[in-house]
Amino acid sequence: MSFTFLKELPSPKEIKTEYPLSAAMQQKKAQRDQMIADVLTGKDNRFLVIIGPCSADSEGPVIEYVNRLAPIQEKVKDRLILIPRIYTNKPRTTGSGYKGIATQPDPEKAPDMLAGLIAVRKLHLRAIEETGLTPADEMLYPENWGYVEDLLSYVAIGARSVEDQHHRLTTSGFDVASGMKNPTSGDFSVMLNSVYAAQHPHHFVYRGYEVETSGNPLTHVVLRGATSKHGNNVQNYHYEDIVRLNEMYKKMDLKNPAAVIDANHSNSNKQFKEQIRIVKEVLHNRSISPMIRKMVKGVMIESYLEEGCQKIGEHVYGKSITDPCLGWKDSEALIYTIADMVK
Ligand code: PEP
Ligand code: MN
Repeated sequence: MSFTFLKELPSPKEIKTEYPLSAAMQQKKAQRDQMIADVLTGKDNRFLVIIGPCSADSEGPVIEYVNRLAPIQEKVKDRLILIPRIYTNKPRTTGSGYKGIATQPDPEKAPDMLAGLIAVRKLHLRAIEETGLTPADEMLYPENWGYVEDLLSYVAIGARSVEDQHHRLTTSGFDVASGMKNPTSGDFSVMLNSVYAAQHPHHFVYRGYEVETSGNPLTHVVLRGATSKHGNNVQNYHYEDIVRLNEMYKKMDLKNPAAVIDANHSNSNKQFKEQIRIVKEVLHNRSISPMIRKMVKGVMIESYLEEGCQKIGEHVYGKSITDPCLGWKDSEALIYTIADMVK
């Protein structure tokens, strides 16, 4: 066999028993999940802000970041729901490079999947226990859902995974808000077919079991921009893009049509400071169009303690080692701007 089976990993149940979420925070999570569901179903007019580093590469600065968000959440709680991005798995364009804390708890050392699972669980747990803010993560490896399903309030399926059947079917069993990104090609129909698949029940094989899922009515789209056949970035956060999305949503008979705008990636062409302008444009469009106001339920922002990004090994505390991020001061100001503009 060309696989080498190195070791058997603990089951989700074993890891959860060893690193449990407190009863108080279980209750808090249920409340936050309900609030976020109410935003997506239109019962709550607040706006979602999914914000944090591209990759949660290190416990210290990520926990500090989430601790800085917590008092802001308190101040803007009537208008915004802040969901910290704690992204523990990174999809890589060519498959090589840093794959997240789940694979490499230390980015400068070899992969260690057991230590990675524990690091992921501890990071999410600590963020929640210290701040009450339940996080978002990308479910890059759907088999890992069980290790975090009691911790995450928002799940994204990435641009490189959204056409994959296993991701779609697994999302149909998640019981929290789940965002399907547009694929890197930008095709909205791939993304909407993915929402359709995830909103319906399925019967399949999962972690060695035959399973059935209920369908996830909180599945919606995330627009992250695209790459053209010539390799150029094609933005998809503009007024016309949402009008087109709305027309396509109408034809598909989906529940809770909704979109989150990812302001970085191919929307900003990774010019991270552009996120400020992009978010403001989205909020302006919401203010002039009732349809867009109803459709666009939130934004996703890549932000960390320090702006920009660095190479692995440079050791700047709180600076991204994957996509460039907005720095703390700009991020804080942007959250207050969003709170003002969503009025
Ligand atoms: C990300 O959110 O950092 C990411 C990799 O997104 P995408 O799947 O849109 O490239
Ligand atoms: Mn990123």
